[in-house]
This record gives sequence, structure tokens and C-alpha cells, in this order.
Amino acid sequence: MTIKSINPATLEVNAEIEPSPVDSVKNIVDSARDAQILWGGLSLNKRLQHLNKVKDCLISNIDEVAKVITLDNGKPLVEAINSEIYPVLDMFRFCANDAAEALRSERVNNPIFRIARVRSYNLFEPRGVAGIISPWNFPFSIPVTQILMALVGGNAVVFKPSVLTALVGEQIRKLFEEGGMPEGVVNVVQGSGSEIGDVMMDAGFDHVIFTGSIAVGKHLMKKAADTLTPITLELGGKDPFIVFSDADVERASSAAVWGAFINAGQVCASVERVYVDRRVVEDFTSAVVEKTKKLRLGDGIDPDTDMGPLISEERIGVVEAHINDAVSKGARILTGGKRITDLPGFFFEPTVIADANHTMDCMMEETFGPTLPIMVFDDIDEAVELANDTRYGLNASIWTANIKKAEGISRRLRAGTVIVNNCLFTYGFSQCPWGGVKESGIGRTHSVHGLHELTNIKNVTINTPLIREDLWWYPYTENKYKALKGALKAMFGGRMIRSAEGIVEIIKSFRLY
Ligand code: NAD
Repeated sequence: MTIKSINPATLEVNAEIEPSPVDSVKNIVDSARDAQILWGGLSLNKRLQHLNKVKDCLISNIDEVAKVITLDNGKPLVEAINSEIYPVLDMFRFCANDAAEALRSERVNNPIFRIARVRSYNLFEPRGVAGIISPWNFPFSIPVTQILMALVGGNAVVFKPSVLTALVGEQIRKLFEEGGMPEGVVNVVQGSGSEIGDVMMDAGFDHVIFTGSIAVGKHLMKKAADTLTPITLELGGKDPFIVFSDADVERASSAAVWGAFINAGQVCASVERVYVDRRVVEDFTSAVVEKTKKLRLGDGIDPDTDMGPLISEERIGVVEAHINDAVSKGARILTGGKRITDLPGFFFEPTVIADANHTMDCMMEETFGPTLPIMVFDDIDEAVELANDTRYGLNASIWTANIKKAEGISRRLRAGTVIVNNCLFTYGFSQCPWGGVKESGIGRTHSVHGLHELTNIKNVTINTPLIREDLWWYPYTENKYKALKGALKAMFGGRMIRSAEGIVEIIKSFRLY
């Protein structure tokens, strides 16, 4: 059966896409392995020349790519530019400017090396074939930034988009084909997670980057254990947004509205829980409500649309369930709260919830929809405790005029990223590592750290010795024990007297030896 790309704003079928046969995956990975040998053997400069052609191709087709993203995913055109195409172009720039330094061999130093005539260095070699499994919420920027990092590191790629955004997957295939990538280096497989996705873990990848739900992430990690395949997991979030009494309430309220409703709230790092100091909660809340009411909902293909539809009926169900649960536990809906029935697509009103607390699902579980629940706090410790009271740990956002205070609090928050007086935006800047702690994931994408995750760090150590045998080799004797003990004291004893003792012990043991 073909995969139907449905426009979530109109429910019209954009296109039908052939799924990849399940039994083709292994062959695709095998031929990617052959292609990787040539690709990985190219100099970094040559690889960058190829990537530059792909970048040119993207620049020439920005309108087409943005339109396909909006038709397939529903997000407004402006978001297709700023949250999908911008991060990818920034990643091209990162590869061109920073990869050489990050992948350069790295000298390893140890004081003993000088005495023992040892030279040691680390090489950052390609892992081989990377499997990239991606979600529908950023169907372009998530996979393409990851693909670029894999490629610049010398890997080949097999990428599976979500069935909900298969059309964007085809656009990505086209981009790399038209950009003239050598055959077999970037491969796209299409199909559902339960069919194609599940066999991918048995296909022999050298590294997998999975971005998606916690449940599927855990399932894949178990499968990865069977073959000890390294896996990076970019999973869900429930990100806190903390507003202190000295914050710029006007700016913070605009950011909260944007951060909660961008992509109709379907963002792993969207503002999912807002904590506000009691002294400013009234001002903050009324500003948030006023700004939320001004949002223009509609088909994202209209450039004046602020918020588009959700991706599916299923997502609307989760949002409704979280709102009903909150109301049944005493929360108040200040604006929104309902599905929009006079539009054909999966539209839901942006919803502001007051009097939220931690008994409610909307504060404890990822809603991944257009809700902005607000809870009051009285002091810093309470704010930090509430923010950390979660199984998630992706992003956190702090709002205050006191930067010193913010930096102290940043260290106390358990999250992969903390942003002060802003939210979300570091995802678009390739130098910033991206990833979470706790159940939000393992490992990092983007940045030098993400790039190193896609490499085998190989240590090469070269000895040009003057002596025939090292002290720690056979045969073991009592004198050797004493000499080695003396060496420990000399090297690590710290105080002069201990080091001197150590040297004496070595000399004595050598005499007897
Ligand atoms: P999902 O887990 O349902 O699917 C993600 C991908 O995994 C899809 O391509 C899907 O087809 C595939 N998949 C599903 N089952 C599979 C299986 N058994 N084997 C292999 N692949 C399988 O997630 P989703 O609904 O597409 O995305 C939403 C989730 O992703 C949210 O929880 C969101 O927070 C998270 N997310 C995280 C980040 C991040 O950077 N941390 C970014 C975006 C989205």
C-alpha cells in the first residue's frame, strides 16, 4: 500500500509515495557500506565540495522546499524558513568552517611519554554507515542536519522519515540527488516504524541516531544492545519556562506565547510548563492571554498565518485529554481549550491554562500540542524544585534581569540546554550541542560533540624506545614491586619529601635487582 502524504490543514492528499520493501533494507545498508569506503576515503575538502553543491541546490529551491514542508507538516511558511531551512544552512556553514578543526588528529600528552619516547594522537575516523530515524515535527531540519554531520565525518547514511511526512523525505532524497552526491552515500527508505523501522536495527548499522518518542527510543535501545550498535537518542521534552519577578514581563510573555505555540506546540523543546513568581503572575498571565488571542490560525501556506494545524487526529486527542484532566483537577482555561470545527484540518485553539499544578498531566507528561499551563511559585528553591520534578530534561528557560542569579540557577537545572531570557533558539545554531538528560535522551547531535559521536576515536601510540624491556613487563619480582611502588610515589606523591622517598626506593631496588 502506498504512503499518503496528507495536508493536515485541508486533509487533501498531497502525493502518494511507494514504501520501500522491507527486505530491501539490508541490501541498501550493504551497498551504502561499499559507497562509504569511497566517500570516507575522500579528503575532507573533497567531501565539503560535494556538500557545497547540495547547499547551492537548496538555496536555489528555497520556495519549493518551504512549500513541501508546509503542505506535508502543516507549519506556517515562516517556520519552514526559520526552523527548518535556516538550521540546515547553518549546519552547512558549520561543516565548512568547523569540521576541519574538529576532525583534525589530536595530540595526546602524558609526562611519562617524554621520558619513554612515546608519541600519541587520536584520529576521528568515520563510523561507517549511520542509520537516521526521524520524526514528523521537524521533518527537514532534524534529519538533514544529522545527515550533514554524518557525511562530513565520512559516513554513509540510510535515512527513514516518518510516514506522516514522507513527502519531505522525498524532497530530501531529491536534494541530495540533484546536488550530485555520489551514488549510495545518502539513501532514503520509506515506511512505517513498525515495518521498515524495526528491521533497520537488524540491518548492520555502525551508528544510529533516533529522534522521536521515549517509548520507541527505549525499544530501539534494547534492540541496539543485541548488536552493541551505538545509538544516539533525541527524545521527548517537558520544558520549564521560569519567570522571576525581575524579568522583562513584556518580552517574557511574547516568548512564552511563541515558544508554546510554534509548530502548534509540537516541538520537543517547546514551552510546556510555565512557572511564574507570584508577584508578577497577574501581569504575565494577562499579557500571555492577550497575545494568544491575537494569533491567526489557518493554513500555513498563507504567509500571514501564525499557527497551523496539528499533524493528526491522534494529537488532538492527547491535547483534549490533558486539558480535560487539568480542568477536572481545578485548572482554569483562560483562552482556547477547544478543537476548531469550522476548518477541515486538525486545528486546535491555542490554550492558556491557569492554576496548573503537578498532579496534572499537562504539567507532567509531554502534551506536544498548543497548551500553555501556568503555575505560581514563591522563591528560587521552589522554582528549581518544580522545574526538576520531571522525568524529562531537554531544555529549560529562565527569565530574569539578574544574570548572575540566572547562571547559578542554570547549574541547578537538570537539562541538556538552559537558555536565559530566550527559549528554543539554540537548536538552529549548529555550534550548540543538542540533546537531553534523564528520559529526554542519550548523547548529543550538532556541535563538535555531535560530530565526534559519529566518529570512531582511534588512538595511535608510537614508541621509539631506547631500552629493551619496560619495567612493568615480565618477570615479576619483589624488587620490581618495590621499584614500581617507588615510581608511584615519585610521580604522584605530591609533596617533595614523598617524591624524594620514591626516587630513593627506585634506586635501592635497582641496586638489588
Ligand atoms: P515516534 O517515536 O512515533 O517516531 C519517530 C520515528 O521512529 C518515525 O520515523 C517512526 O516511523 C519511527 N519508528 C516508530 N516505531 C519504530 C520502531 N519500532 N522501529 C524503528 N523506528 C520506529 O515519534 P514521533 O511521533 O514521530 O515524534 C514525536 C516525538 O519526538 C516527541 O516525543 C518529541 O518530543 C520527540 N522529538 C524529540 C526531539 C529531540 O531533539 N529531542 C526532536 C523532535 C521530536
